[in-house]
Amino acid sequence: MEKEKILDREKFISQLNTTEKDIDKSWIMDVLRKSIDSNLHDGNPRGHRNLIIVMEELSELSKEISKQLRDKGDQYNILEELADVQLGIYYVQEICGVNNDDLHKAMNIKMRRLGEVLEEKGKYQ
Ligand SMILES: [Mg+2]
Repeated sequence: MEKEKILDREKFISQLNTTEKDIDKSWIMDVLRKSIDSNLHDGNPRGHRNLIIVMEELSELSKEISKQLRDKGDQYNILEELADVQLGIYYVQEICGVNNDDLHKAMNIKMRRLGEVLEEKGKYQ
């Protein structure tokens, strides 16, 4: 691992001990919107670059899950990538105009369907 990445990782681990566990969603959304707006001058549609980064973060989480399945997993890496992807979901919601109510309804529909499959077939594959 390159030196800068090692330092970032050490800093992340040490900050875990001092950072609050509750999130302030309005602060997160404020910073997130500022980061989207910081790219408005680039000539692309709003959030274009941020959505590219979200795709990269999804890929990074995939890689960590793969490592986990190969017994090469690292809890701090999983935690970091999960945080990146959770924030990425906020970006997608903000940029694509998906509100929490609709997202939560969709999640309920999906889980209800899964529950029905489990009841009917006894397993989900
Ligand atoms: Mg990441």
